[in-house]
This record gives sequence, structure tokens and C-alpha cells, in this order.
Amino acid sequence: MKKLIIIKYAELNTKKANIGFFLKQLKKNLEKRLEKFSFTITFDKGRMFLSVLEEKIPEVLTIVQNTFGIHEIMIGYELEHQSLSYIEECFKKLLRDVSFQTFKIETKRSDKTFPLTSLEISKYLGGVVLKNKENVRVDVHHPELTIFVEVRQTHAYIIFETLKGIGGYPVGTLGKGMLMLSGGIDSPVAGYMAMKRGVRLEAVYFESPPHTSVEAKNKVLSLAHCLEKYGDQIKVHVVPFTEIQEAILKNIPKEYLITIMRRMMYRITAKLAYRNRCKVIINGESIGQVASQTLESMSVINEVVKMPVIRPVACFDKLEIIELAKQIGTYDISILPYEDCCTIFVPEHPVIYPELSKCIEYEKLIPYEEFIQRAIANEKILKINENQFTEYL
Ligand code: ATP
Ligand code: MG
Repeated sequence: MKKLIIIKYAELNTKKANIGFFLKQLKKNLEKRLEKFSFTITFDKGRMFLSVLEEKIPEVLTIVQNTFGIHEIMIGYELEHQSLSYIEECFKKLLRDVSFQTFKIETKRSDKTFPLTSLEISKYLGGVVLKNKENVRVDVHHPELTIFVEVRQTHAYIIFETLKGIGGYPVGTLGKGMLMLSGGIDSPVAGYMAMKRGVRLEAVYFESPPHTSVEAKNKVLSLAHCLEKYGDQIKVHVVPFTEIQEAILKNIPKEYLITIMRRMMYRITAKLAYRNRCKVIINGESIGQVASQTLESMSVINEVVKMPVIRPVACFDKLEIIELAKQIGTYDISILPYEDCCTIFVPEHPVIYPELSKCIEYEKLIPYEEFIQRAIANEKILKINENQFTEYL
């Protein structure tokens, strides 16, 4: 009898023809995320079985619980064979270590040649519990403990504990997206939500030294690192934005500063995205949150790129975004008080309903193509290892 982790991937089961592709990626992701452990992964009808040294199970579980593509995680025991007498023998042994007052047993039998039906197995083992434990009773509606028994072709499994997984699709199954990552609350949450749909991330951060500090940049890198907990390594493209921003500030009417600045950010992000084989841009815009996020603003800003822009938190209330940020661990980093390039030049009355023709006219006042090329040529790609930020070569 061996303790192991059993993984259920419910939503992936709806991917019928493509299931092999999704599972291959899930396995690959787990292999990468668990590389410091010695483990084996096997598959059998709707389940993935992950074996590691028993004392490593808690540590491995925290990683598995944060891996997209997993719906439920069961911690159970694999029995070397599946005869009823052997199941009973193991069952009795395991019962010694658990205490409960009410219980039920749920059995699944994928080996249809097994002499008892699922219901008969449950009843039989229920009797074993009642005979071997004092003061316990069956409660099928609200049991304190549900014991799952699975009888498969070669092995049987007894499961006492189930945990919820974070669901979604394995990161990487839907290609790559370029996340516009600022130090705010919204964009890391947007990144997390895109990852949940299977999108691998690269990130772009616009910095404006000396108006923005090294701490502000490190905060963004910490946010990227926090998101890596749920997927893969995230390359962060740090793009110098000072020249563009100062030119905008000097030449463009105040109320259009933010609109034009964001059009520049979109242009650069799209170029970086194409260059790095990303299929979409992802950002943390939320409808109505600020002047640059009215529908009119969004459409005028969006006009500069052909690539689809995914806005996972577009329809969320700020409080809902905050709740999710707390849940995924980015909130405490996001609220660190460092300035962002958007916040330092905010005009008092930014335009709420910008006009495209005016944007085009104003943009003629600055040689932005040249600035954009220079900004991209001077980008630094950073990666994070064990909290050390190093340049990606
Ligand atoms: P907050 O959580 O405070 O709203 P925010 O990051 O969402 O912060 P916004 O001004 O609302 O800030 O910006 C909208 C979106 O634009 C961000 O979610 C982010 O995707 C992108 N963005 C803003 N500033 C930057 C930046 N300096 N670098 C990269 N992306 C940025
Ligand atoms: Mg925002």
C-alpha cells in the first residue's frame, strides 16, 4: 500500500479529441514545477497519479494546488491489487488513524468484471467501518468523512482527503500573451486570469526613470515572480518610456496626455508581442475605472493595434479585483507605495470622450516612430530566480 496524490482534471475531459494534448502539457508543467523532487506520473482513465516520497507530499501538494488544469486533488492509498479481501485488510489498517463520528463511502468501479457492484462495495465496506470503529454512524447527506474507493483494472484506491484544485487549462495550451504589467492591483489579476485559461505570459513594463524609481520596477518584477507560482517563468520586458513621456508632456494638450501615452504603450506592446510570438495583449483595464477606461477611450486607444487585446477584469468591480488579488497573493505587493509612470503625469482633467482625429493630429507633433524604435532597442529583458533579478540574455 502506497500513499500518493491523485489528480482529477474535470474541465479537460470536455476537450475530448484534444485531451491528449492538454494532458501532455499538464504533465510537462508539473514535471517542470516539481523538478527538485523525485517523482513519477502515470495516467489511467480520467486520473493522473503522482507518486513522491511520503514526507514530500505536503510540499508537493502546495505546488499541485497552484497548478492550472487541475480540478480536484485526492490524497489516497494505492493498493497493489484489487481483491475484495485485500481492500478490506488495507481499509481496516487505514481506519485506525482516522477519527470521525459520521461517514459515507462512495465507490467507483471502472473494472466492470469485479464481482461486486459499486453500491455493494460501499455497503460492504460500510459494514467493515461499523464493525471496527466505535460510536460511528452512516450519514449520506452531511457526513463528517467521505471515504472514496476506486476499483480499477489492476489497482484499488482508498481516499480519505480531497482538495479543490484551481481549475482552468494547463498554462501553455493556448499559446502566449503579452501582459502589460504595472505595479497596480488590476494587471497582475488580469495576468492570473489569462494564465488560468492556459495562456503563457511574457510581460512588459514601461518605466520612466528618473520620474519612476528602481523600487517601482522591483515591485513589478516581484509581481511577475508571484504570478510564476501558477505557471511558468515570466520574462519581463522593461521598456524605457521617459523620452516618449517627456515629449508628450511637452507637446500635447494636457487633456490628451494619458490617451496618447496609452496609444504609445499599446504600439510598443504590440511590436514586442509580435516579435516574441505572443498572440494577444493582456491588460488590467476595467470599464469605467478611470478616464482612459471609458468605452470611448478604450476604443480610441485600441485603434493603434490589430492584435486582440484581452481585458480579463474589464467587467469586474474594483472590490472583486481586490478580493482576487488577495487570494492569489499579489495584493500586498501591489499596495506598496511606489509611483507609476501613469500616475506621475496625470492631468487634472483628462479627456473622458477622446476623439480619434485629435489623437492623430496631436501625434504628428512628435516623431513617435523614432522614439518607439529607440525604446524597443533599449528594452531590458529580466527574469527572476530565487528573488534575484537577472538580465535575460
Ligand atoms: P490600478 O490597480 O491602480 O488601477 P493599474 O495598473 O490598473 O493600477 P491603470 O492606470 O488603471 O493602472 O492602467 C490600466 C492598465 O494599463 C494596467 O492594468 C496595465 O495593464 C497597463 N499599464 C498601466 N501602466 C503601465 C506600465 N507602466 N507598464 C505596463 N503596463 C501598464
Ligand atoms: Mg486599473
